[in-house]
Amino acid sequence: MASTPPPRTFHVKSFGCQMNVYDGERMAELLTAQGMTAADERGDADLVVLNTCHIREKATEKVYSDIGRLRRDDGTSPLIAVAGCVAQAEGEEIMVRAPSVKVVVGPQAYHRLPEMVAQAAAGTRSTETDMPAEAKFAALPRRRKSGPSAFLTVQEGCDKFCTYCVVPYTRGAEISRPFADLVDEAQALVEGGAREITLLGQNVNAWAGEDARGRKVGLAELAEELAKFPELARIRYTTSHPADMTDALIEAHGSNPKLMPFLHLPVQSGNDRVLKAMNRSHTADSYLRLLERVRAVRPDIAISGDFIVGFPGETEAEFGDTLRIIDAVGYALAFSFKYSPRPGTPAATMGGHVPAEVMDERLQRLQAALNRDQLAFNHRSVGRRCSVLVERRGKREGQWLGKSPWLQSVHFIGEAAVGDLVTVDLIEAGPNSLAGTLVSA
Ligand code: SAM
Ligand code: SF4
Repeated sequence: MASTPPPRTFHVKSFGCQMNVYDGERMAELLTAQGMTAADERGDADLVVLNTCHIREKATEKVYSDIGRLRRDDGTSPLIAVAGCVAQAEGEEIMVRAPSVKVVVGPQAYHRLPEMVAQAAAGTRSTETDMPAEAKFAALPRRRKSGPSAFLTVQEGCDKFCTYCVVPYTRGAEISRPFADLVDEAQALVEGGAREITLLGQNVNAWAGEDARGRKVGLAELAEELAKFPELARIRYTTSHPADMTDALIEAHGSNPKLMPFLHLPVQSGNDRVLKAMNRSHTADSYLRLLERVRAVRPDIAISGDFIVGFPGETEAEFGDTLRIIDAVGYALAFSFKYSPRPGTPAATMGGHVPAEVMDERLQRLQAALNRDQLAFNHRSVGRRCSVLVERRGKREGQWLGKSPWLQSVHFIGEAAVGDLVTVDLIEAGPNSLAGTLVSA
């Protein structure tokens, strides 16, 4: 491979979950620390990093078509690096099929991106898909700048092995980052302007560590420690598994005022046979009882979830149980997906394939129920006075957009600035946002 001048500008494009967004930010910080400059448009950049997601179908095809689209009119391409979970799962094949890709780097190895890019510019393509996640965090530069709402990955990987899911294979075994490192990164984020931190992990509530006094602690104690930063107003966490909702974490929703009244707790299905086949450790009933306990300590908490329709063998009656659990919970927000067979997962070889048109129809009914409940939740919020963290300007003159404690988008008109925490009366609700009037800045 011929050598090229080292890239001076870069563009990182992240697909998929919030953890990928976090990884994309850290890659950008790494490249900036090397003296490179971020380009807004990928067409302008010398280096393009595609930070990919492998969770559902067609992920790999999307990467190839993205690589194709990076070809410029004169036939040349920027230096292309493929990162993320597709790189982890299909890196070797990408190297063979896409000669314009010079670097393949998995989610646990991206701290090596700068040296791999330098090698690529010097003419050597390379692949790195090792899994020791701790080395990565230690090698990343200290965080400097942050928007008002920042992500902080506290835990990576997953040992739950839900039978449909590729994450345990692409992100590896569960690891928790050390308590002191997290407090330090949170401090850097707060100093860089963050007023809200969302703690991230594929199984965030499985996070476990030791505090400064050597006590064994979980997410509740970590949130308690972060709440001590006076400038930090809000703490959130996602995504949680029902099996790891500890008593301490439930209680924290009643005792830690900075922990926002919002819980993303995926159930996936409302039917116990399907849940067992998915290797989820909860039943519909145990899930509902768990939510009762959370609501007992924080009655206004907004519940969010993930759903899969058309898991192998799912019958109409079993799908009906999912609609029933939706009615029982009243979700404020939800994400729903058609089952997608992932190579190498146990469910991919299970019988009882659900036809595409049945899945489509179930997804429509499911989403109609979820949309109805989201709108109802927003309507019930009208009349509330709440804090809004201002994130950006709106389209209209003098308009600002921000988030309520329940993670709803709120717009209002008045004097404010990005990063302000203002008080707003919620006066009107739509399916995806609310209008408010500014009470005080
Ligand atoms: N760890 C989280 C949990 O257990 O809820 C979620 C991680 S996953 C990135 C996000 C969501 O993608 C899952 O909750 C599930 O609803 C969906 N998902 C994962 N694998 C899927 C598959 N093979 N087909 C369809 N949806 C899938
Ligand atoms: Fe995937 Fe299940 Fe782990 Fe979530 S808990 S990341 S769905 S294996």
